Amino acid sequence: MAHEAQAATQEPQKLVIRNIGLLLTGMLEHPIADADTVVAVNGRITALGRAKDVDQEGATHVIDANGTALAPGLIDSHVHPVAGDWTPRQNQLGWIDSNLNGGVTTMISAGEVHTPGRPRDIVGLKALAISAQRQFANFRPSGVKVHAGAPCIEPGMTEQDFKDLAEAGVTLLGEVGLGGVKDGPTARQMVAWARKHGIQSTIHTGGPSIPGSGLIDKDVVLEADTDVIGHINGGHTALPDTQIRCICEGCKRGLEIVHNGNERAALYTLRIAREMNELHRVILGTDAPAGSGVQPLGILRMVSMLSALGDLPAELAICLATGNTARQRKLDCGIIEVGRSADFVFLDRAQHSAGDTLLDSIRLGDLPGVGMVVIDGQIKCQRSRNTPPATRVPALVKGKTS
Ligand SMILES: [Zn+2]
Repeated sequence: MAHEAQAATQEPQKLVIRNIGLLLTGMLEHPIADADTVVAVNGRITALGRAKDVDQEGATHVIDANGTALAPGLIDSHVHPVAGDWTPRQNQLGWIDSNLNGGVTTMISAGEVHTPGRPRDIVGLKALAISAQRQFANFRPSGVKVHAGAPCIEPGMTEQDFKDLAEAGVTLLGEVGLGGVKDGPTARQMVAWARKHGIQSTIHTGGPSIPGSGLIDKDVVLEADTDVIGHINGGHTALPDTQIRCICEGCKRGLEIVHNGNERAALYTLRIAREMNELHRVILGTDAPAGSGVQPLGILRMVSMLSALGDLPAELAICLATGNTARQRKLDCGIIEVGRSADFVFLDRAQHSAGDTLLDSIRLGDLPGVGMVVIDGQIKCQRSRNTPPATRVPALVKGKTS
């Protein structure tokens, strides 16, 4: 609400993006659109199509894409934020800004578990979650939309606790298993209470991530019945392939693959999901910051890895990091269609990639170059300081950056 109030007081903005070389929609069923122009008014997409068919009158801002690809801003389905743009996990400042330079415009917290002195008593964990939700709703580091305030469930919580959290604005649970609840029946009850009150859930799948966390196997995962099977490829230690297959076949929930997991298990999960014709369930996250560090290009690296080693067309791999996650997480971004948030990343093949086109270069395992990132119709980053340099970059040819 605070954000909407803020937008209403700003000058009306009409953004026209023209000269798009390739429009990647983020939709698996229709990954490439026949369009070279996108229009957004006050941060929402209002039209897309061929230049001659789209109303460009009265543009306050014009971006010449210069033949580059336009994709939805990337979504990281699994992060562990703490406060603003600081993470104590690797003592790092500016990690979210670095991710923006990797094309990420939205992040989903899987729990603010690295908070020093994290409270584990029920009133304390509720207070932390509500505070984190407020902090990131009130302040977007470098413009990135961080959905935070994800409490880790502890024994003794009652339905009233979930009702209280929901009424206070909490919409997510942190990874089940990172708190004191590690058994199937208790997790199932609490996840059901959370769902009843509109709170989405996820679970820590596999072996312990750091000293102090525990094993969550397929029986607990399936019994808990969370909305998302968090890091099905382990964080880091993956379950045996037979258990991963059981989880994929035993439910219809989201299958989250993370960067800071087991890459072989990631490719195995992708294969099973495709065999089942359920690629729409696969979503991507980094699970950073973590012991493995913070990867500003983590989502792009997963897209290239899954495309190259998983033999997945690049335009579909990008959907796993955009539209699939948006649908799974009920977000208004992640797809380029009328009515959605104007969150975009401009991509081109990296200079000197062996691939002839952007999609070829990803299919060969190279990372794309990011030339610009836009959130709610506002330019937040131009040529990325982190990706290999894009061959071509877009330019703002009318209007000022905010
Ligand atoms: Zn985890």
